[in-house]
Amino acid sequence: MEKLISAQRDFFLTHQTKCVEFRKDFLKKLQKEIIEKEEAICDAVYADFKKPKFETLATETQFVLAELKNALNKINRWSKPKKVASTWLNWPSADYIFKEPYGSILIISPWNYPFQLAIAPLIGAIAAGNTAVIKPSEITPNTSKIIAEIINNVFPKEYVTVIEGGIEVSQELLKLKWDYIFFTGSTKVGQIVYENAAQQLIPVTLELGGKNPTIVDETAAISVAANRIVWGKFLNAGQTCIAPDYILVHKSVKNELIEKLKSSITKFYSDDIKNSLDYARTVNTKHYENLKRMLEGEKIIFGGETNDIDHYLSPTLVDEPKEDSLVMKGEIFGPILPIIAYETYADIHDFMIRYGKPLALYVFSTNKAFQKKMITDYSFGGGAINDTIIQITNKKLPFGGVGSSGIGSYHGKASFELFSHSKTIIKKGNWLDIPLRYPPYNLPLKYAKKIKNLF
Ligand code: NAD
Repeated sequence: MEKLISAQRDFFLTHQTKCVEFRKDFLKKLQKEIIEKEEAICDAVYADFKKPKFETLATETQFVLAELKNALNKINRWSKPKKVASTWLNWPSADYIFKEPYGSILIISPWNYPFQLAIAPLIGAIAAGNTAVIKPSEITPNTSKIIAEIINNVFPKEYVTVIEGGIEVSQELLKLKWDYIFFTGSTKVGQIVYENAAQQLIPVTLELGGKNPTIVDETAAISVAANRIVWGKFLNAGQTCIAPDYILVHKSVKNELIEKLKSSITKFYSDDIKNSLDYARTVNTKHYENLKRMLEGEKIIFGGETNDIDHYLSPTLVDEPKEDSLVMKGEIFGPILPIIAYETYADIHDFMIRYGKPLALYVFSTNKAFQKKMITDYSFGGGAINDTIIQITNKKLPFGGVGSSGIGSYHGKASFELFSHSKTIIKKGNWLDIPLRYPPYNLPLKYAKKIKNLF
């Protein structure tokens, strides 16, 4: 690993990645390779956790291809030095922001969107002129293998490479001196990454998880809300960092919402969900057993069916779990949806401050004042009003958490910005050298007190 990172460092120092055309050539090669391997990628993700092909296309390959297309279209504009207005203090001068690549980037990715979450950050890293090492998740080995194959086909390994392996590999990588670490995964491991990075003052982005509240008030369009909540929750079998984690519903519409949620589930996945081609599985035995344990002693009002052989857990609705129950203790990250009634805004507030700042918040309401209050009263990564998940589908919107749900944000231009250092330069003319700033300071202090006006 040390040899590899030093080879990447040497390669970076050849300055080839500083050339925007060089970056574009490789982004195009990556684009071509992903298009050619799209079927094989779908097969790999299916082999890992039976993710439906439509979902893999929409949320993994096509998502990444959209990022690539956007980066290729915009990279010239993004990478141009930006001239900003100069100040009277420095007159005569020309003032600029140069976008500079950091150098060697380490990308550690999770298993739940195993292709997208490894490749989307890579696109930003390459577009900005960096080299990169990707450590995909060991929990989705088929996808990890195809990621390695794609990257090996496209890039020389001193430019971009994949190092496959588990926690120990990740730990070894974290000991090395990177110029930037981009981590996507759990809050617990995010803390470990942050601690390691701090030892060497390495800047980080942490894309973490959390417990995403979904509020349904008494004015919500309940049928549409049910469809959109069921879709966002059970996509990828609930294993989505921005999935609704639990519902807080006004008690006057709770029963109606439950009935509509049930009928949306049946409408989407049929009465025979385990044979539906549109429903994924939980990723492995450990995660599956955790989810089953969460259901012990809970009031299951829909679903709860399991099959140990393929880690099948059907879409499950849980009524009024207790505050200290397993299901309400931490992020669920599976197809279990707790439903809790509220009466007053104070009830909502209790939940909103209980779990730290969430990655996502969803509000279903037609009451504009309530929508506004939820947006302004609480801090969270991002979210949607009257929908779920869709905040990641606009490349103009940066995606990331805040506080316990993460540090930094990416996608589209935000990815380019994230992987670039903004280097500021003032180019000064020589024909005028006003001596007032030099000692001995002869400027009367009453004028010095006005310097702020010249900045
Ligand atoms: P994880 O934190 O267990 O693993 C993520 C990566 O870290 C893997 O590559 C793994 O090998 C490595 N890793 C695990 N333990 C490690 C350790 N002790 N030291 C160093 N490296 C270690 O996460 P996961 O289970 O793969 O993914 C699920 C979590 O990721 C959920 O909490 C979810 O919310 C979060 N997530 C967040 C986002 C986001 O964009 N914010 C996206 C997807 C998933």
